[in-house]
Amino acid sequence: MDIILFGPPGAGKGTQAKILEDKYGLKQLSTGDMLRAQIAAGTDLGLKAKSVMDAGELVSDEIVIGMIKATINTAEAQKGAIFDGFPRTEAQAIALDNMLESCDRSLAVVIEMQVADEELVERIVKRAEIEGRSDDNVEAFKNRLAAYRSYSAEVLPYYKAKNLHQLVDGARGIDDVTINLCQILDDLS
Ligand code: ADP
Repeated sequence: MDIILFGPPGAGKGTQAKILEDKYGLKQLSTGDMLRAQIAAGTDLGLKAKSVMDAGELVSDEIVIGMIKATINTAEAQKGAIFDGFPRTEAQAIALDNMLESCDRSLAVVIEMQVADEELVERIVKRAEIEGRSDDNVEAFKNRLAAYRSYSAEVLPYYKAKNLHQLVDGARGIDDVTINLCQILDDLS
């Protein structure tokens, strides 16, 4: 089963993806995590991506599509993937459909985790204290949030038109959100 967790920065996509990985044997594929791993490893790709990410802007389609292509059909992802932070453009969404099709798979659902801006800012300030991500300062965060509002308006209609979109209230506690997500996934399988 292949699913997308879609939502603004700080919505809890990563937290929920980890829980769903264990429960359903799926593999989380987070383009943000992959990019941060490239930066940590000091690769050319990481160097190129870092300034773009720190500014809260989007890394090129070519780079992120390439990273998904390299991981979508690995042994760990055979039972399906949880796409987290991908796709962020319609071109990425189309590329994802094609990549899944070429391994005889297709998306089961796109779950939008909805959280209000004020709550997100509070969460990000806390995460900055704990994780120290260089793009978790208030200025960069506001850019990422603005970027989200704009790219979600590009990507979500694509999935709404395919009847794959479902909305979840992400402002509740972690456990309540997990219960809601599991209901959706259990209904599908
Ligand atoms: P968040 O959603 O919390 O802002 P992510 O870890 O998903 O964080 O992404 C961090 C940054 O990595 C983004 O601001 C962007 O610069 C880059 N990035 C991640 N995924 C993509 C993508 N699919 N397309 C373009 N850029 C991406």
